[in-house]
Amino acid sequence: MSEKWSPRTRAVHGGTRRSQYGEVSEAIFLTQGFVYETAEAAAQRFEAAGEDEFIYARYGNPTVAMFEERMALLEGAEDGFATASGMAAVSGALTAMLKAGDRVVSARALFGSCLYVLEEILTRYGVEVEFVDGTDLAAWEAAITPGTTAVFFESISNPTLEVVDIAAVSALAHKVGATVLIDNVFATPVYSDAIAQGADVVIYSATKHIDGQGRALGGIILGTKEFIRKTVEPYMKHTGGSMSPFTAWIMLKGLETMELRVRAQTASALALAEALQGHEALARVIYPGHASHAQNPLVQTQMGGKGGTVLSLDLVGGQETAFKFLNALSIPVISNNLGDAKSILTHPATTTHQRLPQDQKDALGITPGLVRMSVGIEDTDDLVADILQALEKAV
Ligand SMILES: *Cc1c(COP(=O)(O)O)cnc(C)c1O
Repeated sequence: MSEKWSPRTRAVHGGTRRSQYGEVSEAIFLTQGFVYETAEAAAQRFEAAGEDEFIYARYGNPTVAMFEERMALLEGAEDGFATASGMAAVSGALTAMLKAGDRVVSARALFGSCLYVLEEILTRYGVEVEFVDGTDLAAWEAAITPGTTAVFFESISNPTLEVVDIAAVSALAHKVGATVLIDNVFATPVYSDAIAQGADVVIYSATKHIDGQGRALGGIILGTKEFIRKTVEPYMKHTGGSMSPFTAWIMLKGLETMELRVRAQTASALALAEALQGHEALARVIYPGHASHAQNPLVQTQMGGKGGTVLSLDLVGGQETAFKFLNALSIPVISNNLGDAKSILTHPATTTHQRLPQDQKDALGITPGLVRMSVGIEDTDDLVADILQALEKAV
């Protein structure tokens, strides 16, 4: 039945497992383990656990299984494995499938921790990693040589919001038999059609839009049953990055409202991008959902024209003006999460991307005046008015 449901219905009902009490709200099975009726039953379950049979919460748990199934249904993936954080999902998916001598091609514009995993950790174990400009298809084509094992990118990069062509890069990867892994946080599960467009593995930090209320860290790896159960699960269950049942419950509750939140946030983000176009205090307004964005045509085909919940503003006066602007805001908070119900602004050059040397910041377009805004669910007009008054105070 759930195959016929639209994503919005799947996000509310998908994967529900009711106990004998018939609870309406998903139950939290806050237990590390499960009792076996007999010694024989224990032996049998360790040999081959059935659909509804669990062994230890690091391997799986009914509440976590609900979240995994709901996310798989939502993304159109065969299966999923939930993790303790988005980074446990990114590092887990990559490490589970790679070995010394493998070659990975990745977009250069990455979330700082993703960059660390690819650049500093995988290479330490003998994996070769080449970085390319994610928007340059010729660069992908040149780098994805025969023998490439995996291709990795964020479908929309942080914080400069470059959009990578999922279908085109996946086609190049599949020509040489490489697995395509996408960190899809900025696209959100609401606007993603990544599996249909060619992705083999889709990864989310559930901390962002899925929780959407700033409460818990979590992540998920989505892919084929074969990849999730034969490659990811053995790695995750033995290395310990599994999601806790309490977190899974928070994420299930988040999923119920995610579509409503994300659509409202996206509408406000577009309204802000429109209101701020050409503002004298701004060198650039970067929003993939706005016609002025270089890859807006790709956003039309890849994300149904929706640019997501984040926009970036480049203030003419550099860091000093950017700081004055941030300090003059009265509604959004200064923090570094995104996808939250509360609007959040951050100054990447001095926070999330502080670690990067200046030449890398330059290459990624992380200028001193750049601020990233994750648009929340507050009233759109209130947000526009607050941003405009803060810009006025900053210049
Ligand atoms: C936040 C984020 C992550 C990491 O997720 P955590 O839940 O914080 O571990 C990975 N990739 C992207 C694009 C992110 O925005």
